[in-house]
Amino acid sequence: MVVTLQSYALGRWVGAGEGLVDIHSAVDGRVVARASSAGLDFEAMAVHARKVGGAALRAMTFHQRAERLKSLAQHLTAHKPALYELAGDTGATKRDNFVDIDGGIGTLFAYSSRGRRELPDEKLIVDGPVETLSKGGSFSGLHILTPLEGVAVHINAFNFPCWGMLEKFAPAILAGVPVIAKPATVTAYVAEAVARLIVESGLLPDGAFQFIAGSTGDLLDHLGGQDIVSFTGSAATAARLRAHKGLMERSVRFVAEQDSLNAALLGPDAQPGTPEFDLFVREVVNEMTAKTGQKCTAIRRILVPSGVEEAAISALCEKLSRVRMGDPRGGEKVMGPLVGLEQREDVRRQVAKLREEADIVFGDPDHCTADGVDTQKGAFMGPVLLKARDPKSAAHVHVTEAFGPVATLMAYEGLADAIDLVRKGEGSLVASLYTHDDGVAQEAILGIAPYHGRLHVLDRDCAGESTGHGSPLPMLVHGGPGRAGGGEELGGLRGVFHYMQRTAIQGSPARLAALTRSWVRGARTETQGEHPFRHDFETLAVGDTVETPRRRITLADIEHFADFTGDRFYAHMDEEAASANPFFPGRVAHGYLILSFAAGLFVDPAPGPLLANYGLDNLRFLKPVSPGDDIRVRLTVKNKRPAREPDYGEVRWDVEIFNQEDETVARYDLLTMSARPTAH
Ligand code: NDP
Repeated sequence: MVVTLQSYALGRWVGAGEGLVDIHSAVDGRVVARASSAGLDFEAMAVHARKVGGAALRAMTFHQRAERLKSLAQHLTAHKPALYELAGDTGATKRDNFVDIDGGIGTLFAYSSRGRRELPDEKLIVDGPVETLSKGGSFSGLHILTPLEGVAVHINAFNFPCWGMLEKFAPAILAGVPVIAKPATVTAYVAEAVARLIVESGLLPDGAFQFIAGSTGDLLDHLGGQDIVSFTGSAATAARLRAHKGLMERSVRFVAEQDSLNAALLGPDAQPGTPEFDLFVREVVNEMTAKTGQKCTAIRRILVPSGVEEAAISALCEKLSRVRMGDPRGGEKVMGPLVGLEQREDVRRQVAKLREEADIVFGDPDHCTADGVDTQKGAFMGPVLLKARDPKSAAHVHVTEAFGPVATLMAYEGLADAIDLVRKGEGSLVASLYTHDDGVAQEAILGIAPYHGRLHVLDRDCAGESTGHGSPLPMLVHGGPGRAGGGEELGGLRGVFHYMQRTAIQGSPARLAALTRSWVRGARTETQGEHPFRHDFETLAVGDTVETPRRRITLADIEHFADFTGDRFYAHMDEEAASANPFFPGRVAHGYLILSFAAGLFVDPAPGPLLANYGLDNLRFLKPVSPGDDIRVRLTVKNKRPAREPDYGEVRWDVEIFNQEDETVARYDLLTMSARPTAH
């Protein structure tokens, strides 16, 4: 059955009556779907996203949005088999689908979890520490991140219709920015099925997600400075979009992930017979054949030390000769077809270009055999391995992306030469390095890191658990400079921050404290009659403070502490040696003694709502404490955050320890758990 895909715009599904484009099965060429976005009011979609979706998302906290992402991930998980079934016609095997579908859903889970663990249950993020801007401490500054008030337009490539959409969607929604997703038309039927599940889940507010089946029409003409376009696809399209007059004139944020001639670099130490050589062979073949080489991260350039070419080619050919092609829906371990006949023609054209500088040592781009399928109707193509004749003077092999099961091997003379060759890719998403030598790894990493978004260093120690060269992970940056597009996605919260505006806020500590709901040094403190440890989580207020009396530190205290703990370090016990140390005036108190006495000064000992101390953050000893000095403590509620458990919350206290001259001798954050009233 041929389905006519629909777009989801302004809160309803709409189909187009005209301009329909046929979408063919990659496996047998039959028409499986039709798509067109004719008739959509793109300007109204952008307005709807900003006014309705954005406003609703921004009314939620990071935790609330993160919860929605988790529920959505669970909803999609329940419908995975249907998506797998549908994706067979794109040429994706079970393994490819695992990356695309499970990987996409996994990204939702990952962002949900990060949002709840690492972001506040608030509507803004404080980015970095408070900066004191004046001598008297009455004027300070800090940075905040707030969601952009525009729409995120996501233009995706054909190769990962599910993952490609969700890896952009998750960070945007977590940031609080509505999404208009536009998949590549040739695999849009899978993306449409995912979009339907998102909409049907009812988990997102109206306007938070819209979907275009077909072209983006005049959408880009209606974008402005609060909007963002995130693109994955070819360098040619990226260049066209980057040069869009409206986007340039209105400084619309533009993120691109485009062509990438990713390298695999076999270290000079990784000779045949070493585990690293075997890992290299396995990984290169894997990257050439997974998703039939249609991965932005696939290995395109294979660098081996001069003298190792023949051994490397022979090992690669042996493995490649075992690759079987066939119908990915058959359930057997096969390599599927390319996404379509046009794509196969494109790959053949690129191989022809590569052949101007390289010889084919394995495969034939024009002929292949595949089990039980018609290789003319289906877009089948076997793996093709080339060997560059003179990699240093070659141009095509470093910049021509044959987006299929194609890679070019090249020999290098020494590591410096290898680094130069890798750099000829002019910026890539990822490179893999196979070495068990720290010196090789160090030199290669420093040499090529500026040209990459990710480096995968594989050796015998990590191979068993490595996630592989080609897998972008939600917690690590995905993107690359130059030819790779100059963009950056994922990378944990970094990916969320791309959808937010960083703003420096200057003002009084009190104003900053009120804004961030977090006490700032210099802001007013509240010393209530009752000790704050007597207050439960709900009644504790940010700024509640205890000022303790003083306590003298004596030599007897220091010696007692040393005997008791066994810490007889010379700075505390040997006057002469301590005096010779440029940091100390003579014997000084242990830092841990100061911390312990500070606790002795500020705690309220009776049982009460304070349940436990679970750590210290940002501890600094700023001035030595000598025998005869006095210390006192100021303990202030810095901020509070509900815990996952309903019966307690987490409280962060600012602790500052002063000497008799009111100089700060130590400073840290104390982390405690305080009971919530329901627990009594
Ligand atoms: P394209 O650049 O042709 O398309 C990518 C996306 O951009 C698609 O959604 C496409 O939509 C859309 N698009 C195309 N033209 C415009 C436009 N003028 N305005 C707005 N959107 C537009 O890439 P493909 O996905 O077709 O892949 C082609 C080649 O790109 C591959 O052969 C490969 O070389 C490279 N590629 C590189 C990737 C990488 O990350 N390294 C990833 C994927 C592809 P539509 O499909 O409707 O035309």
